[in-house]
Amino acid sequence: MARKKAFKAESKRLMDLMINSIYTHKEIFMRELISNASDAIDKLYYKSLSEKLEDVDRGTLQIDLTLDKAQRTITIEDNGIGMSKEELEENLGTIAKSGSFDFKSNNETDEDIDIIGQFGVGFYSAFMVADKVEVVSKQYGSEDAYHWMSENSDGYEITKTQKDTSGTIITLYLKENTDDENYDEYLESPTIQRLVKKYSDYIRYPIKMDVEES
Ligand code: ADP
Ligand code: MG
Repeated sequence: MARKKAFKAESKRLMDLMINSIYTHKEIFMRELISNASDAIDKLYYKSLSEKLEDVDRGTLQIDLTLDKAQRTITIEDNGIGMSKEELEENLGTIAKSGSFDFKSNNETDEDIDIIGQFGVGFYSAFMVADKVEVVSKQYGSEDAYHWMSENSDGYEITKTQKDTSGTIITLYLKENTDDENYDEYLESPTIQRLVKKYSDYIRYPIKMDVEES
């Protein structure tokens, strides 16, 4: 059993804000995760050009979405640059662009809500819709793959795992529906198609979707 590691203080605050979010546009988590996947593919794309890498087939770079109604999961997979163990710790345990999210108080104010919409809050937006997030990643050029998991702002766990190709697989375990919120809608392929069209139309890699029949 891996030891649970604590988030940095500001990450914990952002995550608590996301977990308890009353923000009405929770759907932007798709925009954030797809943009991260696209950034990761960009990094491998340009590295493969500048270093003339023979083993990167630029024509196969893509983002795969999988909806699993039985498990109530959404998976966002990219075959981009991936993350090392250290990068998983650094990038997902701290706020990358801390400047874009300025905490003015402990309460969620209208200003905070605007900031979510305008700038996005990146990876942590996943916790608006998921109560558990798993990340499996393998950095390009490395033999090792790692599994990152968090269920709340108490912390995260990292363990070694197996993955054939470089890139990252993010699995969101959706929250249970409440009287006010319907998370099941994100398991419907038309919903996801709409969100991809709305927010990620500009992404220059193919975005493909598998739908598990239930
Ligand atoms: P930002 O994208 O603004 O840097 P995020 O919170 O969205 O902030 O992501 C934090 C960091 O985590 C990214 O900068 C990147 O280094 C890393 N990251 C997130 N998703 C991925 C991914 N799919 N592949 C590789 N790295 C990722
Ligand atoms: Mg991002």
